[in-house]
Amino acid sequence: MKVAVFSAQPYDQRFFDEVLQREYASSGFELIYQKAALTDKTVSLAQGCTAICAFVNDQLDAALLEQLADYGVRAILLRCAGFNNIDLPVAERLGLFVARVPAYSPEAVAEHAIALVMTLNRNIHRAYNRVREGNFMLDGLLGFNLHGKTVGIVGTGKIGLATARIFKGFGCRVLGYDPYQTADFSTVGEYVPLDTLLAEADVVSLHCPLTEATRHLINADSLARMKLGAMLVNTSRGMLIDTKAVIGALKSRRLRALAIDVYEQESQLFFQDRSSDLIDDEVFLRLTTFPNVIITGHQGFFTIEALREIAEVTLHNLDCFANDRACGNILPIKA
Ligand code: NAD
Repeated sequence: MKVAVFSAQPYDQRFFDEVLQREYASSGFELIYQKAALTDKTVSLAQGCTAICAFVNDQLDAALLEQLADYGVRAILLRCAGFNNIDLPVAERLGLFVARVPAYSPEAVAEHAIALVMTLNRNIHRAYNRVREGNFMLDGLLGFNLHGKTVGIVGTGKIGLATARIFKGFGCRVLGYDPYQTADFSTVGEYVPLDTLLAEADVVSLHCPLTEATRHLINADSLARMKLGAMLVNTSRGMLIDTKAVIGALKSRRLRALAIDVYEQESQLFFQDRSSDLIDDEVFLRLTTFPNVIITGHQGFFTIEALREIAEVTLHNLDCFANDRACGNILPIKA
């Protein structure tokens, strides 16, 4: 069974090949690694394959799914947790098997969110460059103690909970907002309405999925309701934030600082080497001019443990499909 693996990087190939050889050597699975992202221009690379494997910025809209089905593709293996990039009703109508990796080391993303907060708060990104240039002045590097501060977790699922636990360990007061509350989070933090969280949190960290309800959850209106001088962190999905509104809040000093691992228009930039290119995304370029903004290119998931888990669960999903076995990771999620 041939599988076209889109947006494949050398590290994907390394971890997938390891698991394939160790656990599925006699399965007959053949992974065909495609560096290209899945778009209407590259979809023809799936011809002859029974399944495709896609990542966060691969396009799986109605037209593309129909094209894949026409080629004889019958399974879509998402090697990520989020599924905002696939038109699930169309996939269902076409009878496609769709599965994802619901949880692969939530700690990987949580620890990255914490790394962003710590870097931004103590200006490590600026200190690193200064010291290399022989400048040991401290002006502009002033931070605050996290101990005793209030942190707001929006979305208290697997990653939100892992993040909350670390903040709790720092001695923070942890607030949470989620339409579906859990007992696990209640042992770490206190559930409050979103408005209370925004008004009281010194650090707001986003961990909810991208849905119609959460698109631009952080906009001019919600920014105006945030505590003056708060820090905003987004390791979830770029579209949760209206980036232009956030730039306005940074310029007016309402927001103290911004850390993002995801960006609204990231599919044009992330996971590519654009260092010899002109980048013409003016909003992104404006963000890079702020000393109090740090951006990483969707690397929250990028740990050895998470990549191993992604490869294992994705190949397990493929095995379930190939052998017509029950699979717990199928989309859409049935209640
Ligand atoms: P999860 O499903 O365990 O948790 C998501 C939580 O968000 C749930 O508790 C859900 O009830 C809650 N939620 C839904 N709608 C909400 C709303 N309107 N307001 C507040 N909360 C809401 O998912 P997870 O594994 O914790 O992942 C969270 C998100 O992190 C994913 O959707 C994905 O977008 C992102 N993610 C990013 C990376 C990365 O590399 N940066 C990696 C993995 C996942």
